[in-house]
This record gives sequence, C-alpha cells and structure tokens, in this order.
Amino acid sequence: MSHRPGRHFLQIPGPTNVPDRVLRAIDMPTIDHRGPEFGRLGREVLEGLREVFRTRQPVVIYPASGTGAWEAALVNTLSPGDRVLMCETGHFAALWHKLATRLGLAAELIPTDWRRGADFAAIEARPAEDRGHAVKAVCVVHNETSTGCTSRIPLVRKAIDAARHPALLLVDTISSLASIDYRHDEWGVDVTVAGSQKGLMLPPGLSFNAVSEKALAAAKSARLPKSYWSWEEMLAANASGYFPYTPATNLLYGLREALAMLREEGLENVFARHDRHAEATRRAVRAWGLEVLCAVPEEYSSSLTAVLVPPGHDADRLREVILERFDMSLGTGLGKVAGKVFRVGHLGDFNDLMLAGTLAGVEMGLELAGVPHRQGGVQAAMDYLAAAARAPGKKAA
Ligand SMILES: *Cc1c(COP(=O)(O)O)cnc(C)c1O
Repeated sequence: MSHRPGRHFLQIPGPTNVPDRVLRAIDMPTIDHRGPEFGRLGREVLEGLREVFRTRQPVVIYPASGTGAWEAALVNTLSPGDRVLMCETGHFAALWHKLATRLGLAAELIPTDWRRGADFAAIEARPAEDRGHAVKAVCVVHNETSTGCTSRIPLVRKAIDAARHPALLLVDTISSLASIDYRHDEWGVDVTVAGSQKGLMLPPGLSFNAVSEKALAAAKSARLPKSYWSWEEMLAANASGYFPYTPATNLLYGLREALAMLREEGLENVFARHDRHAEATRRAVRAWGLEVLCAVPEEYSSSLTAVLVPPGHDADRLREVILERFDMSLGTGLGKVAGKVFRVGHLGDFNDLMLAGTLAGVEMGLELAGVPHRQGGVQAAMDYLAAAARAPGKKAA
C-alpha cells in the first residue's frame, strides 16, 4: 500500500472523523484511576454528559461499544421471559432484537419496510390489548443507521401513554446523540443508549446508558443475570467520580474535550448544522436523479443519508471505486438493503466544505462506476449551502 496524500474521507455513519482537539486530548499519560486527579475528570464528564442527553438523571459510562450499552439497558431493567416490544426499523433494530432474544427475553418485533421510523400506531395498539401488562418494555432505535430514518420518540411515548401502559421506553441514540435533537427527560425515556464514535466525535470504545427514576426502580427487581453491566455498583462509584473497574481513561480525556467543543458550538447550532448538511445531501441526490431510501420527509435522518442505486447496479462496486480512486469510505448497505444502497455519513466533526468534497467524490464515483445519473448534484448542494450561509438561521426554500 503506497502513501495516500491528504486526509482520508471517513464518510461512513460512524465511526466519524475524530477532531484534532480530541486526538490531542487523548494523547496524554494514563493516570491512576483511583487517584484524586481522576475523580475530578470522572465528575466532570459524568456531569457534562447530562447536558447532551438533556437529563438530570444519572448517565452511566461503559468501556464498551454501543452493543454493550444495548445489553446493559436490557439486563438492568428486565427479568427472564419478560415480553418486550421492538420495532424493526432496519438492521440495527434487528440486531438489538437478536440480542434481546439471546438474553432470554420474549422479544416481539413490529415490522416496517425499512423506509420509515417506528410504527407508533402499532405501538399503541399492542400495549392497548395487553391488559395484563405482560409487555415490560418498548425498544426503539431513534436514528436507524442502516436506513437513514429517524423515529419520532415523542409520538412513541404518546402511543404508550395513550394505551395507559406502564412499559419502560428504551431508546437507542447511538447515531443521533449530539447530532439530532434529543431529550431524555422531556420525552419520558427510561433508558437512553448511546456510543462514543458517532455524534460525540470520539474513537470507538465508550458507550452510555442514561437512566430514569422509573428505570432505576425497575432495576431493583430485574432478575436477568448481570455483573459487569450492573448499574448498582457503577452508580455507587460514580457518585464520587470513580468507576468500579478500570475505566477507559484516555477516552475520557477525549470525552471531556468533545463535551467542551459541543458546549462552545451550542447544541442547537450543532443540530442546525446537521440538518443543513442532510438537506444539502438530499438535494444532491435528487439532482443526480437518484432516490433517498427514507420515504417519509418528517423522518429524514440528519446524521446520514442512505441512497438507492438504480436496479441492476451494485452500490458496493460504487463504494469500491470511490475508495480506490478518491480515498473516501462510504457506508455499505446492511441486511436486506445490502448492495442496493450506499450511505453518506454527515455527522460529527463536519463542515460545509467537507460535505462539498464528499458529494464531489460521490458524483465522480457515479460517473466512473457507470451508474446512470444526471450531473449537478454538487452544484445543487452548493447552492443550498450558500443560501443558508447568506441567511443563517432561516430555512432555504
Ligand atoms: C453503530 C450503531 C450500533 C452499534 O454500535 P457498536 O458500537 O457497533 O456496538 C447500534 N445501533 C445504532 C443505531 C448504531 O448506529
């Protein structure tokens, strides 16, 4: 492999580009995780995370990928054989369902066509007929990273409340936290699951559970086996900024820096930036004459866009050409959309010119791979970005 000049474009929807500030923060000597300096770091990041989850409740940090936090959310709140309701919005929802089934939960899956968010009418209907309250939790992926569709969590909450059902609401925000508006407390979520390597701009290796009072109460009687994932010892140690086992110290340095960056930009501005890049991307896709996988405009994802390639063309071949020729990684199609879509990640530490470069790579790739399209996608995105820059805060028509 010869040297490739310039920066690699890592435009998959996570892991995302890690900003230099975060890399520099991580590049420090590891300290004693039981010493006084660590306690300050621990308290600072545990407190700072609450702002991002928009919660006053505790947030737990695991040295694990997001999948670990999925498991933690389930084993801390549920018992063997408990019924849980899940929404198959795409590949990640299906994986969470598989994990729940392996843990011995009776996990029911509400299907979708993978082109929209969770079906809240079905969510309301199912608990409404569950008069004995056998369903203990409803699990939803906020931003389905395999499809680029978001689920409207306040409507899911409303559906459960309309059925007057006491089920817990567990939400995966692994690819939406710090990219798309999300409110753990206000939306009445019981456990929010998140990860470090997407909107939080960190390398992979940390994941999170934000925990409501109701979830903490459920944890008291939950009987699924757990030890490493147990909230109890974790929260006891966290009270003074420490962890019950060795934490990922250097990633916590990075987290402290990432939280500072989010605070400096302001979460509202972070969300507006993601919305803008997503809209510019969709305009490019339409100008190319291609189709966005998400079929419901209210549920378009602001962290990534999944793009359908015309029938008879292979999305992975296109990705291969783009990687070889332009040193850019795009997201592959997962599960039942494998080969049919490619995904453009536009989340994390990302700006207008990075998006323009990304879309230029896609447009040239379409040409080189012989995928039928029209030119002018990059131009359409540039027009939108320039209009947005002229009238900041206003949505361009
Ligand atoms: C990335 C992702 C996961 C998986 O997380 P890992 O860190 O790979 O374990 C789960 N859910 C969603 C929505 C994701 O985007």
